[in-house]
Amino acid sequence: MTATTRVNLLNLDRPAMEQFFTSIGEKPFRARQVMQWIHQRGITDFDLMTDLSKDLRARLRQQAEVRLPEVSVEQHSRDGTRKWLLHLDGVENAVECVLIPEDKRMTLCVSSQVGCSLNCSFCSTARQGFNRNLSTAEIIAQVYLAQHALIRDGDAQGITNVVMMGMGEPLLNYDAVMAALNIMCDDFAYGLSKRRVTISTAGVVPAIKRLHASTDVSLAVSLHAPNDALRDQLVPLNRKYPISELMAACREYVSAHNRRRITFEYVMLQGVNDSLEHARELVKILRSVPSKLNLIPFNPYPDALYATSDQQTIDRFRDYVVAKGIVTVTRRTRGDDIDAACGQLVGRVKDRSRRSRKFQISVESSTGLNHVSN
Ligand code: SAH
Repeated sequence: MTATTRVNLLNLDRPAMEQFFTSIGEKPFRARQVMQWIHQRGITDFDLMTDLSKDLRARLRQQAEVRLPEVSVEQHSRDGTRKWLLHLDGVENAVECVLIPEDKRMTLCVSSQVGCSLNCSFCSTARQGFNRNLSTAEIIAQVYLAQHALIRDGDAQGITNVVMMGMGEPLLNYDAVMAALNIMCDDFAYGLSKRRVTISTAGVVPAIKRLHASTDVSLAVSLHAPNDALRDQLVPLNRKYPISELMAACREYVSAHNRRRITFEYVMLQGVNDSLEHARELVKILRSVPSKLNLIPFNPYPDALYATSDQQTIDRFRDYVVAKGIVTVTRRTRGDDIDAACGQLVGRVKDRSRRSRKFQISVESSTGLNHVSN
């Protein structure tokens, strides 16, 4: 078999790995052994998998591989945050993932797509347009690389939480993301509890319903506005799935699980969504669902159309919603000295939507620059 037809074992969750071993005439339990070698011990060379027979190792060399993306840059922030840029497709595309140490937690923020197709007006990933979905291998490779970097550095605990809050919309890459979640939660791989794995969505309502039928990972929803008129502007997906439908899907998602709450993310944009009137509207909406609110100071990037609310405005907003009984956390900005904060992940996207170019033209015309570079 040639390299291109070898099965990349990073794409396989346990049922798929068992099927693979069955298909080559082996017992399904080989899947557990090989998953432990790869994901827990960080061994990708079949020759080193000593509890497999020599014959099986030779066949794996021929028929399978463990292919990781290339780490092109690793950056360390002053506050301990680490960011990796991973090259895909040669150097054409790249995605970022970010590791955030906080108290006893070690949270990895994982990307699910190269770019994003949703075009939220305040997000820098949106600026770059969209190229393609990541494969399961490319998603789980982010966990693999961060986990084994931690282990190499002597951190025995490793990753404790994963948030699908990097580049892309995870619920528009449903199957690959689900298989990656299975691997994250598998005791023979990373063994994370489902509560510690969070999918963040801009509100793909049918996929939230589908998710509810198959798993109970934690769910975060990027709300950002308390009414449809404003949310239509900030999160254009709202025109398809308005707030009332989104909240109904959220209610359904938590209904079967006692004490589970949905996390609502709300980026604070100066003069746009940060008034007390907005806070009042927001409280009304959030009361209909067991919820937690994350207020995120807007993280700036070049040519951003928004500014962050000042601290006083954020505090006033927070005090109001807290007084109304909404559990609220104001997120600290982490890793901003290495552009690793929320909404600053850009990677490299060979844009197929032409959005990045359209945006460049509009910025240049609004700033009086009339040349159009390629
Ligand atoms: N598409 C998914 C996953 C991305 S999560 C989603 O929308 O939930 C990234 C989070 O960072 C989202 O809540 C997003 O709205 C937020 N975000 C994007 N740009 C930001 C910025 N510049 N400052 C702060 N938060 C931002």
